[in-house]
This record gives sequence, structure tokens and C-alpha cells, in this order.
Amino acid sequence: MESLRDKYEVVIGLEVHAQLKTKSKIFAPDGTEFGKEPNSETSPITLGMPGVLPVLNKEVVNMGILTGLALNCEIPARCKFDRKQYFYPDLPKGYQISQYDEPICVNGHIDIKGKRIGITRAHLEEDAGKLVHAGAAGLAGSSYSLVDLNRAGTPLLEIVSEPDMRSSDEARAYMEELRNIVRYIGVCDGNLEEGSMRCDANISIMPKGSKEFGTRAEIKNVNSFSALQRAIEYEIDRQIEIVEDGGKVVQETRLWDDNARETRSMRGKEDAHDYRYFPEPDLMPLEISREWVQEIKDKMPELPEQKRQRYMGLGLSEYDASVIVEQMSLALFFDKVLELGANPKIAVNFIMGEIAAYLKNEKLDISETKLVPENLVELIALIEKNTISNNIGKQIIIDMMKDGIKASEIVEKRGLSQISDEGAIKEICKKVAEANPEQVEKYRGGKVQLLGFFVGQVMKETKGRANPKAVNDLMKEILG
Ligand code: ADP
Ligand code: MG
Repeated sequence: MESLRDKYEVVIGLEVHAQLKTKSKIFAPDGTEFGKEPNSETSPITLGMPGVLPVLNKEVVNMGILTGLALNCEIPARCKFDRKQYFYPDLPKGYQISQYDEPICVNGHIDIKGKRIGITRAHLEEDAGKLVHAGAAGLAGSSYSLVDLNRAGTPLLEIVSEPDMRSSDEARAYMEELRNIVRYIGVCDGNLEEGSMRCDANISIMPKGSKEFGTRAEIKNVNSFSALQRAIEYEIDRQIEIVEDGGKVVQETRLWDDNARETRSMRGKEDAHDYRYFPEPDLMPLEISREWVQEIKDKMPELPEQKRQRYMGLGLSEYDASVIVEQMSLALFFDKVLELGANPKIAVNFIMGEIAAYLKNEKLDISETKLVPENLVELIALIEKNTISNNIGKQIIIDMMKDGIKASEIVEKRGLSQISDEGAIKEICKKVAEANPEQVEKYRGGKVQLLGFFVGQVMKETKGRANPKAVNDLMKEILG
């Protein structure tokens, strides 16, 4: 398969649905909170009763504009809503209100690892409800399904990319950056597993060098970044095999089964005309003034890429900056630490070192520990003032996360303050030299790398409290 891969170029375009975090639904006053009693958030509008009218939620539009701006889109002065007809048991009206030919955002892009990925459009629409299949839900019997309409009418922004991606790595990077962006601007949780962000991947192949794209298959049901990559890889191989066997890829919607690790045909892909789109007669076209757009632009928070650049400006490596930005709560914690005036280099060493390792091991978010930014700042100040060594800092940071104790309290209680007194350190160095005559002889005979051994012994003697630089200098002096 690997060598066959070289013959083909892969083309990928993603359609991403982001659930907007508004309190109420897009056209109804029902709440959007997850996990409520089934069908408790269902006004007559959500139920599609005759005679009811949708009323557009302004906050949905605000979030749509904010996202569009963050994705470098144009926000046209006018957009409108359309009816997209289809029948689903969890779509009581028999149609979905969406945006067809005049979406709220057009012509955007984001950059991933130096490559620009175009964003064709982003449009607002309502989500459907949920079917609960009795068998799968462990309910008695298996021949029936229940419907929960709490999610029906939840606002979605569908973000459609250009077919600009050429590998599963690029698709993943795009998706990750998109998630970072919607999280940082506060419009979406970006939780793939829970479905607050969903992705359909369109994939086709063509002979290398060809100008004409192949027929695409659309893959649904990918709910993690790794599943997205697996699904794309599987689909590339499937399509290559078809073409190599002289067949033709058909345009269809396929479902990714992450357990079986394969895609399965779900239905032939509809074309736009199958949906019988027409302008939604119950909603006026929406005029968006330039003042409105400007007002939102003025409130734009720092975007992930800007944050990364700012961190790199502080001397962080690109890798460190990306890792911190990827975990928003950690980035906000770091920002607070910086704001309080801590030395960024020392702060990063703690965050990327002991703190990150602890969070990973314990599967915790920084907010679930007892470490507050103020306490990390105090710890860093103690190190900078040479009250404690960096090593001691590393030892006590875990306790600070577990118990919420201040560094100064731990240091005082356990007598951990750094020994910088030259006389005291010199005494210990001498003791160590006397206790290891053989090593001293070897050192003096030219094996200077033994210095590390002596320094280590002194540190052991002082339980890590001796000032390492002073130990180094004094030990050298003694060994001659
Ligand atoms: P639809 O709305 O029917 O799904 P669109 O034309 O809006 O169709 O395209 C949906 C997605 O498919 C877009 O992200 C686009 O970039 C991508 N796409 C279009 N053509 C191809 C192709 N030949 N190969 C891969 N992706 C494609
Ligand atoms: Mg589509």
C-alpha cells in the first residue's frame, strides 16, 4: 500500500459543526444545558407545533460573527435563513432552519504550521434532537427507540473548509487549531467525545500531478482527533484499492466505526437540490451593520496563534508554547502567573516539568489542583532570591498542588531554606572529600568528570539545600 500511496494525491475538506454555548436555543427560549430530564427543554417552537414562530437569538449571531472574525472571514452586510427539508424522527418540523446561499461568514482562512487552509463559509443552523435506541441504551426490549428533543434547536455553526488539506496530519492540525480558536473565544466547548464539536471529513484521491479532483466520500461519526486520522487513513487505502482495481469511487456518505476500524456506506450522498432549500418565510433576512461587527471585533480575545507568538517572544520554544496553548486552562494559569510578574523561564520549567507530569499522571486539570497562580509566583520568587534551590522547589511543588500550602510555609516547617553560607558549604565539601580519598586521587589524576560525583554527595548531605553554584566552585577549589 505504501508504494501505491506515492502514485496518488489525497484531497481533504472538513465540515465542522460547533455547538454554540448560548444559554437558550437559536429560535426558542428553552435552555441548552446538557443532561436535563429528557424532553424538559421543549417549548412549542422546539416541538414544531403549528402556528408557532421562530425568534432569532441575538447571542447566536454575536457568536457567529465573533467566530467568523477569528477565522479571518468576511461578514456580509446581509445573511438569511433557509429551510432544508428532510425527515428524521428527531426533527419534528420536518425541516431544519439553516443558511444556504447567504451564510453569516464567507472567505476565511486559518494557518496551520505555515500552511494556509481556506474556509469557504460558516453558517448558522439548528441541531436536531437525539434518538435513544432501547437496545443500545440497556432498556427493556430492543425493538423501539425513544426520542429526546432537548438538543433540538441548539445553535450550531457549521464551518466548511476548502479542499486544501493533503494528509491526515494536516486535517488533524486544522481541526485542533479550530478547536483551540472556538475555545479561546468562548463560543464552544470543543469537546469531540461529547459531541459539542463534530466533524465530517470529505476525502478523495487523484493521480499525482492531476489538476482534477477525484470523487469524494464523506465520512461521518468521527469523535476524536485520533479517530479522524484513522478514518482518513482507512478511506485513502479503500479508495486507492478501488481505483487500482479499475473501479470508480462513488459519491456517498460513509460511517466510521472506530471499533471495527473501517468505514461503511450509510447512504448515497444527497445533492443540494435533494433538500429543496427555500428561504425561511418566518424569518427576515438579517442585516448586520458594520458598527455591530466592529463592536465585536473590539472585544476579540487573544487568539491561540497570537498567544503562541507572545510566549515565543518570552523565550519559550515553539514546542513549549504550543503545548501550553493546547491546554487552555494551563495557558490561562500561565498568563496569570506572568501577570503577577513571575520569571517566565522558571515558570515554564515548572509548568512543563513537574506540574504537567503530575496533571498527566493524576488525569487532572490544573483547576482541579490546589495550586493557585499566586503560590507558584511566591515559589519562583523564593528561588530567585536564593532562599531555596531549584531542586527544593521541584520537591515541594507537588505538595503545593495537593495541599494548597504556600511554599514559604513548607520551607519554614521543614527547614528547607538554601545554604548559601560559604563557610558552611566548605565544611561539608571538605567532609565529602575526606570520606572519598580514592575518588579524590582519581580526580587529581585527571578524571575531572568526578566533580559531578562530589557535588552530588554534598547535595545529598544537605538534602538538596546547598546552593549548587557555590558547591561547584568550592568543591573545585578543595580538590585543587
Ligand atoms: P456538501 O454541502 O454537499 O457536503 P460542499 O460542496 O459544500 O458539499 O463541500 C463539502 C466539503 O467537501 C467541503 O469542505 C469541501 O472542501 C469538500 N470537498 C469538495 N470537493 C472535494 C473533493 N473532491 N475531495 C475532497 N473534499 C472535497
Ligand atoms: Mg456536507
